[in-house]
Amino acid sequence: MTPVTIDKIKGVFFGQAIGDALGLGTEFMTKKTVRQHYPNGLSEYSAIIQDAHRKRWNIGDWTDDTDQFLCIVDSIIQSGNVDEIAFAKELYRWFKDAPMGIGQTVYRVLSIPQFTLYPHRAAEMIWRFSKKQIASNGAIMRTSILGTYDFWNYASVERNTTKIARVTHWDSRCAGSCVVVSLLIAHLLKENDGLDIQQLISFADTYDDRIKPYIELAYEKDIALLQLDEPTSIGYTLKALSAGLWSYFNATNFEEGILEIIHEGGDADTNACIAGSILGAKFGYHSIPKKYIDGLLYREILEEKLDAYLSILNERFSTQ
Ligand SMILES: [Mg+2]
Repeated sequence: MTPVTIDKIKGVFFGQAIGDALGLGTEFMTKKTVRQHYPNGLSEYSAIIQDAHRKRWNIGDWTDDTDQFLCIVDSIIQSGNVDEIAFAKELYRWFKDAPMGIGQTVYRVLSIPQFTLYPHRAAEMIWRFSKKQIASNGAIMRTSILGTYDFWNYASVERNTTKIARVTHWDSRCAGSCVVVSLLIAHLLKENDGLDIQQLISFADTYDDRIKPYIELAYEKDIALLQLDEPTSIGYTLKALSAGLWSYFNATNFEEGILEIIHEGGDADTNACIAGSILGAKFGYHSIPKKYIDGLLYREILEEKLDAYLSILNERFSTQ
């Protein structure tokens, strides 16, 4: 792999974690509340207000989104492959430690007996219980990593992404939104070039025609159109997708993209970790301001896992 590709993969890891850690600062706020709490804007981990929700995390810590991203990484490091059972086991190990910030869908699916043996069945069962309504953002918040694994083989990227998304989220809008992000990242790595709106829509349409309007919305310059803080749709997978794609289409650099997203409120940590991983793949690790990298509380853990992951990926790349 070239140094440019490695820089972009590093950008995905750090972009994910930084978006998550900074986005916690405005998570579940309306755009108006964000302005009240941060009259001069939020651009430092240390400026995150310490209310009842946020003070559960230390400054510079990431939340469940990146925890689960790293469960995928750990499962790859251990099994050498993308495997839904290996991932389900890692996820369950994390779940047993009573993690903070866990989403409802993940909680319900992992509470089904024998989840680690039959994760897809458990996810489908919970989805059917919801009358096929649940399409939350708990899968898209973790799957960006799968745009980097075997990024040179788009069919493999798509297959890996759907099987890991479906470990907890069965809806076609969830799988489709995860695949759109993964394929975008894979193209940014392989071709050093992204995808245009029509290409993104054509990938999305093979999963669910409800995804397309959210891609079109993301293409608009005005971020307010995304209504990321609209209370009834916070946590919807297509909202998170539109936030990530908005930053891809409209941000001129990493920092600008992340900051624009978090100042919209809503599920800001999730929205910003997706934006961060895409922007990391687009602009590279070297474009990320140092203060965001250095300020990550568990930066060393992230770097260790990244190194172990890169050696597996390098090996696969050289023998493809
Ligand atoms: Mg979170």
